[in-house]
Amino acid sequence: MSNRPVDLEVKNLCKYYNAGRKRVLKAVDDVSFVIYKGETLGIVGESGCGKTTCGKTCIGMLEKTGGTVTYQGKDVHSLSKQERFDFSGKVQMIFQDPYASLDPHQKVYDIVAEGIRIHKLAKDKAQEERMVLELLDMVGLNAEHAMRNVHEFSGGQRQRIGIARALAVEPEFLFCDEPISALDVSIQAQIINLLMKLQKQRELTMLFIAHDLSMVKHISDRIAVMYLGNLVELANSADLYKNPLHPYTGALLSAVPIADPKASRQRQKVMLTGDVPSPVNPPAGCRFSGRCSRCMDVCSQKKPELKEVEPGHFVACHLY
Ligand code: SF4
Repeated sequence: MSNRPVDLEVKNLCKYYNAGRKRVLKAVDDVSFVIYKGETLGIVGESGCGKTTCGKTCIGMLEKTGGTVTYQGKDVHSLSKQERFDFSGKVQMIFQDPYASLDPHQKVYDIVAEGIRIHKLAKDKAQEERMVLELLDMVGLNAEHAMRNVHEFSGGQRQRIGIARALAVEPEFLFCDEPISALDVSIQAQIINLLMKLQKQRELTMLFIAHDLSMVKHISDRIAVMYLGNLVELANSADLYKNPLHPYTGALLSAVPIADPKASRQRQKVMLTGDVPSPVNPPAGCRFSGRCSRCMDVCSQKKPELKEVEPGHFVACHLY
């Protein structure tokens, strides 16, 4: 365990939904991790693995079913009204779909200024204007854009507006929920680079959700891999890419293209077989057992616990 200061601590977090007829959908099931101050933690996994639900529960957008989440020592699910207000100034979110998360008929200026007004960060109108223009400049937009309505902008520009809105309240922590998945591939790298630049400049802590391991590699210090509501591997980015331990991580990495043809030929391809099982009725034991080429008898009987098998490298698999 590192002795770096921890911003967010998640212990045995569960988020279940009633799926009718006495069935329970375990979207997040007994997940534990920490996010250190100033780092970017990526969470990856196929759609439906619970990564977004996990992120939203971590920042208190969703009620939890069990476990605890603390942010800077405070339980995010039992904040007082004032603490929740303060928390909303410290923790901000970048949404997946900039078309749905911004009102198309609102002026860019008002969207960015809203948080400044709510948190009373400007002493007068002139300071508010300066702050809005600085924020727009920081995300690659300008004064001329400020007076235009959101519907006049492309997806990439809308995401820049969403980032400026989030930064307006001077947060310490950004929750980015697949912020590039709704954008053209040509724009995705620009938004990632912008987020990386801002993270450095403002020393932000970030939780970055993605289904694509190739993008998450560039932005994340550490990466957590989720499968069917469970965390199956957690390591620093370089270790995870060089030495994936969980068979599921190996399969996800196989799908990531490598620019170097020699390295690409040398990489062992791991194919995923079968479909992702339903989280309403997940397999007993290891939830990946039905799709794992290395499955053993014990795998369908006993759930593997997440263990630290190398310094800082955790995996939940009976092979280790
Ligand atoms: Fe495969 Fe067994 Fe490891 Fe699960 S515990 S990933 S089934 S080897």
